[in-house]
Amino acid sequence: MSKGDFLQKNWCQTDAERARRSLAKWYDSHARDLPWRLTPSLYGTWLSEIMLQQTRVDTGIPKWHLFQELFPSVEDLAQASEAEVMKAWEGLGYYRRARLLHQAAKVVVSKGGFPENREGWLALPGIGPYTSAAIASIGLGEAVAAVDGNVQRVMSRWGGVTDPVDSKTGAQAIQGVADAWLDAARPGDHNQAVMELGALVCSPKQPRCAECPVRFTCTSADNPDMWSVLPRKTPKRKAARWDLTWHVAHHGNQVVAIQRPDTGVWATLWAFPERAPSKSNTPSRPLIPDVVHALTHKRIHARMVGTAMTSTEELHTWAQEVNGVVMTWEECEAKAWPRLATKVWSELKAACMAGN
Ligand code: SF4
Repeated sequence: MSKGDFLQKNWCQTDAERARRSLAKWYDSHARDLPWRLTPSLYGTWLSEIMLQQTRVDTGIPKWHLFQELFPSVEDLAQASEAEVMKAWEGLGYYRRARLLHQAAKVVVSKGGFPENREGWLALPGIGPYTSAAIASIGLGEAVAAVDGNVQRVMSRWGGVTDPVDSKTGAQAIQGVADAWLDAARPGDHNQAVMELGALVCSPKQPRCAECPVRFTCTSADNPDMWSVLPRKTPKRKAARWDLTWHVAHHGNQVVAIQRPDTGVWATLWAFPERAPSKSNTPSRPLIPDVVHALTHKRIHARMVGTAMTSTEELHTWAQEVNGVVMTWEECEAKAWPRLATKVWSELKAACMAGN
C-alpha cells in the first residue's frame, strides 16, 4: 500500500502534518541527553544503534563509553581481536551482534570508509532495515522512516493498526503510517522523536496519553480498549526448556573452562564443561542454588556443580579429557562468558574457594 493510498484510506494529510509538527516541538524540549547525541558521529551512532537492539538504554550507555575508550575509531575496532571485542561486549548479551559489528568494522575499513547511504549500510553485516534507516537518517540526513519496536507501538496505537505488526499486512500498514509521519526536513530528529515518544510516553503498559503531543490525532488516546491490545503480535511459541549442568572442577585458585564451538548458542564464549569429572575421588556438590536464565528462544534451568580435585595434575588430566583449559579465576574473568555465568560469578567463585 502506497503512502498516498494509506492516508486516503485512513486519515487525512492534515492529521499526519499536525502530529509531525507537534512531535517535533515536543522532542526539542524533551530529548534525553544521550552521549551519542551530544557529540554526534557516524561511528557513535552506529555503535549506539547496535548496542541498543534488545538492550536498555541505561545498560547500553556505559558500554558505549567503554567501546569509545577501547576502540575510539572504526579502524581501532577493525584491528582489535575478536576476543577483545567479545570481552568488551560482555554483559550486553546477544553476542552475535558483537561478532557482526566487528566483521562490519573490517568491511568498512577495507572499503575506505562508512557507507554514504542507507543501501550501503544495509549491505554491512549485522545491519537490517531498521538499523540502516536509523543510521542513514540520523547520521546522513536521509529521509527514511526507521521502524523498531517502540515505533511499531506508537504507530499502531496512533493509527489503530489492528493487524499483527509481525504479519505482512500489519508491517506494511505500520510502515505506511511511519512514512506518512516522516519529517523529510529533519528525518534523524524525527525518527529519534518517535522512538523517544515510545520510550518515555507511549510506554507498553501504561501510556501517558494526557502528556502526549500527538493525542489530538491518536486513535487510541485515553482508550485502554485500544492501547492495551496494540501493537498486536502473532502469538509466540513457548520458549523451550534447557536443563543445563555446569561442572566446575577446581583446585586452589584454578578451574577447568572450555571455549564453546563457533556455532550455536553462546558461540565462541567460555563456559564450564557439561560433563562430570569421571575419575575424581571427591564427590560433586551443588555450589549455589539453581539459576533460571532466559534466552530468546530458550529458558535455561542451570545447575552449578563443583568438584574439588585433589591435585593440579588431576585438574590438567580432566582438562585434556574435555578439551578444556586450566585457568585461575582471574584468567577466566579476562575472557568473555555468557551472562548466565557473569551474573553468578562471585557466588560461584566463593563457593569453590570455600570448598578447597
Ligand atoms: S495518545 Fe496515548 S496511545 Fe496515542 S500515541 Fe500518545 S501515548 Fe500513545
